[in-house]
Amino acid sequence: MIKSRDIRKKFLDFFNEKEHAIVPSAPMVIKDDPTLMFTNAGMNQFKEYFLGNKAPKSKRVTDTQKCLRVSGKHNDLEEVGKDTYHHTMFEMLGNWSFGDYFKKEAISWAWELLTEVYGIDKDIIYVTVFEGSDSDGLPLDQEAYDFWKAIVAEDRIILGNKKDNFWEMGDQGPCGPSSEIHVDIRSAEQRAEIPGASLVNMDHPQVVEIWNLVFIEFNRKADGALEKLAEQHVDTGMGFERLSMVLQGKTSNYDTDVFTPIIREIETITSSEYGVNEQTDIAIRVIADHVRAVAFAIADGQLPSNTGAGYVIRRILRRAIRYGFTFLNQKEAFIYKLVDTLSKQMQEFFPELKKQKNIIYNVIKEEENSFLRTLAQGLLLLDTVIKENKGSEIPGDKAFELYDTFGFPIDLTALILQEKGYTLDQEGFKAALEKQKNRSRAATKVETGDWEILIDDPVEEFVGYDLLKTPVKLTRYRKV
Ligand code: ATP
Ligand code: MG
Ligand code: MG
Ligand code: MG
Repeated sequence: MIKSRDIRKKFLDFFNEKEHAIVPSAPMVIKDDPTLMFTNAGMNQFKEYFLGNKAPKSKRVTDTQKCLRVSGKHNDLEEVGKDTYHHTMFEMLGNWSFGDYFKKEAISWAWELLTEVYGIDKDIIYVTVFEGSDSDGLPLDQEAYDFWKAIVAEDRIILGNKKDNFWEMGDQGPCGPSSEIHVDIRSAEQRAEIPGASLVNMDHPQVVEIWNLVFIEFNRKADGALEKLAEQHVDTGMGFERLSMVLQGKTSNYDTDVFTPIIREIETITSSEYGVNEQTDIAIRVIADHVRAVAFAIADGQLPSNTGAGYVIRRILRRAIRYGFTFLNQKEAFIYKLVDTLSKQMQEFFPELKKQKNIIYNVIKEEENSFLRTLAQGLLLLDTVIKENKGSEIPGDKAFELYDTFGFPIDLTALILQEKGYTLDQEGFKAALEKQKNRSRAATKVETGDWEILIDDPVEEFVGYDLLKTPVKLTRYRKV
């Protein structure tokens, strides 16, 4: 069985031989782009090239990119653990052409790599082509269709709509049609039941999208109209864990060697067994997935915290802690113990995991201990609330109490309620949160007011009452 590390290497070597420069993954945590907290696709780090703001050193590059899809346009968190091929953190293999080669090469190289280098059976591959869009006045992507037709049987080419087969960077900017590659990993008998690339088959959970080839050839203008770009680009992304699943003959990403060492370690530490009970399996998958996301984020310098990207990481970790607590009976910290295995396995390609191993280990341990101090009590409170509640919707102020006093992220409360068949009054929660924010905003105003640097002639201004109902005055200084 081919090892995942060799799968990654073969990809990079293949494109390197086709004159692509191998570049490192950009950090998963983004510090300098206000529109994006985490890298969610390989193309993110090349955005400026597509926008024409910067010129690339090399017109052809290839890499594997650490991605996180838990917020914004791509949020796969709900799927993770329930299905076996969406992760929070995953690697996206990619090759790019910045104003260099276009559809013909992108398509024929993808095919060559998958069928000749990796040896995937041609008869289990389907491809999709953009069918066109009336609203944009675009016809079928005939070029892509014809290049595919020259290499795959026509009944394996499926037409896809704008939603699935037209990529846009945002409301404005570079965009273009895409072709996706899907692999049918069902057994031969299952495949024989409904042969060919029918839509029924495409929707089957075991017909998995592995690679997306985007052909950037338009610019969407502010008025919504499309114009042809002077230069055409290729942007591709292939899920490394999904590719490993296909090449290792598995039906779940978690059965590949990307995940099995961590899963074995979870089994050992928690005395549980993977593959026996669905609820246990979901918990094990979630933990195996989430520890990667959290470890890689910390290695990039993003510690769990109460705001922004830090809170996203905290939420992911607390979600994992609760899965362990409820479904694997882990009442004490244990996730941090997985860091060693994870780091050993990934450090060859991602040395930051080895370098930051101690920090990752300690931060996760501390986070686990801290949440475990309130988790049991919070769960008890939630049980009582559910018992005493009349309808199926739990009031927002209770969720707020869980958030504020017990450290339950709102999506965690919602998830637990969903498991028990209840819903949550999200609006009520938001209102309670807003109220608290206003209270603390008034408080910080006073604090910073005290430190205002400006000199001369202070005036005292009444700004409200504090929690003890004493009037609060802010000292304001006139600028000199
Ligand atoms: P899907 O339809 O399965 O959600 P996608 O169309 O959102 O995938 P793309 O944005 O096209 O994904 O990303 C390129 C490739 O990255 C996909 O073809 C897939 O192999 C992989 N990929 C996308 N999302 C995930 C994820 N959450 N976990 C693992 N791999 C993923
Ligand atoms: Mg998706
Ligand atoms: Mg898709
Ligand atoms: Mg896609």
